Amino acid sequence: MVDVNIFREQNADEKKEFQPIGKKTFQDVARQHLISIEKEQVKKHLPFCYRCAKMDLQDLIDKKMIETVRSESKLVETSPKIELEKIDFVQKYGEKNFEMLGSSEVIEKKLLDGIRAPVKTGYQYEYKCKKRGCWCSVFVPLSEHEKRQKKKG
Ligand SMILES: [Zn+2]
Repeated sequence: MVDVNIFREQNADEKKEFQPIGKKTFQDVARQHLISIEKEQVKKHLPFCYRCAKMDLQDLIDKKMIETVRSESKLVETSPKIELEKIDFVQKYGEKNFEMLGSSEVIEKKLLDGIRAPVKTGYQYEYKCKKRGCWCSVFVPLSEHEKRQKKKG
């Protein structure tokens, strides 16, 4: 008996199985990289311009990809060769890249001796990125704020 179903199209479930699972694109890797840097900066209560970093990195990726397409080489690369580790994102998009606009007190309701009372927990620092004017707001705890004030003299 001849099996007539041999050349049928794969159904949706079968197609799913052929998709590489857990394969990340370079964009995914780049985004994860930037998110982790931003997290580190937030931990240190410092601004980081994720927006500019992402845009500039995308420009870099696009440029590389255009050159890949233009290339006569038979070797077509699917991901651009950009060594993320070699780019100093903190230097480029960190605190130095910001102008501080001001700060405001952060008051939170805390439970003190069983009573909810407003307590000053820190300051909200407002920054503007020098490159594209992006706005960034960072919470600075009271102790860290005092340390910075002392440094300023
Ligand atoms: Zn920016």
